[in-house]
Amino acid sequence: MKLISIVVPCYNEEEVLPLFYEEIQKIMNQMKEEHSELAFELVFIDDGSRDKTLTLLREMALKDERVRYISFSRNFGKEAGMFAGLENAKGDYVVVMDADLQHPPAFLPKMYNFVKDGEYDCATTRRVSRKGESKIRSAFARLFYKIMNKISQTEIVDGAQDFRFMSRQMVNAILDMQEYNRFSKGIFSWVGFKTKYIEYENVERAAGATSWSFWGLFRYSLEGIIAFSTAPLMIACILGIIACLAGLVLLILWIVQAVHGDASRAQTGLMCALFLLGGLQMLCTGISAQYLAKAYMESKHRPIYLMRENEEIYRARHQAEAQES
Ligand code: UDP
Ligand code: MG
Repeated sequence: MKLISIVVPCYNEEEVLPLFYEEIQKIMNQMKEEHSELAFELVFIDDGSRDKTLTLLREMALKDERVRYISFSRNFGKEAGMFAGLENAKGDYVVVMDADLQHPPAFLPKMYNFVKDGEYDCATTRRVSRKGESKIRSAFARLFYKIMNKISQTEIVDGAQDFRFMSRQMVNAILDMQEYNRFSKGIFSWVGFKTKYIEYENVERAAGATSWSFWGLFRYSLEGIIAFSTAPLMIACILGIIACLAGLVLLILWIVQAVHGDASRAQTGLMCALFLLGGLQMLCTGISAQYLAKAYMESKHRPIYLMRENEEIYRARHQAEAQES
């Protein structure tokens, strides 16, 4: 028997969760018919949802023993959700996918075919279009990938997604990366292993709304750059050197002007240098501070997520309640 764990981070997904469950069941049955050796488990992560997501998961866990879930004590973010899922998945293969059907379950049989013989360790999809996404968002996304791939040794494929079908070996490698500031697109690429990219057109969310704001995505991309590149530190140094050289030139100019008795020009020159150097200094300190802040957070060794309830706890409680009455 081979177990496939399907990890699904969910944040306020009450609208789409029943649709997802229906779709994934169809695919699981279809795959089981084709490959009798397969077994499945669904590992849902309730990332501190404020709607009925947890209630739905509880119902599903009672009816279907393949359903497992972990409910967080608050919203920890999708990265923490994926980590919790990978950590708790028992499968020989682990799938990570979104609940909103933007990662079509129909791809799973194809992905399994790539991974099952061991030729690939991971199969994933790659969007070739960003249909249905706002123009500004697409433009910024493209810019991000361009900058990222220029300044980081870790290659981040444009359009690559968190929809992954992975071997146990690769999952263990990812779990070995215990960093607190997680940027999965970088982590998937950093661990290496053989990855098959399946290209497809973007699919829009089946129901509900995205929880990513523009500002949220912007912060997430900065996170990515800082987590996987130290180039900004280098930029800070180079800017510093340029500013110092400019200062030296200004100094020489000032000496020349002083010799000629032209004092007023020197004043402007000084003001200019003052602003320039002050600004650069702040910029460089700011960049260093960003890294320091990340190092500070890492040094606390905080848990990546905290669990409040899972399917075992709930099933036991449900049983106890049933016995009492
Ligand atoms: N998600 C999560 N925690 C969060 C935000 C999102 O677990 O804090 C989940 C969400 O439920 C969905 C997936 O991450 O299954 C992708 O989120 P979304 O569809 O909002 O992002 P987008 O597809 O727009 O990038
Ligand atoms: Mg989505």
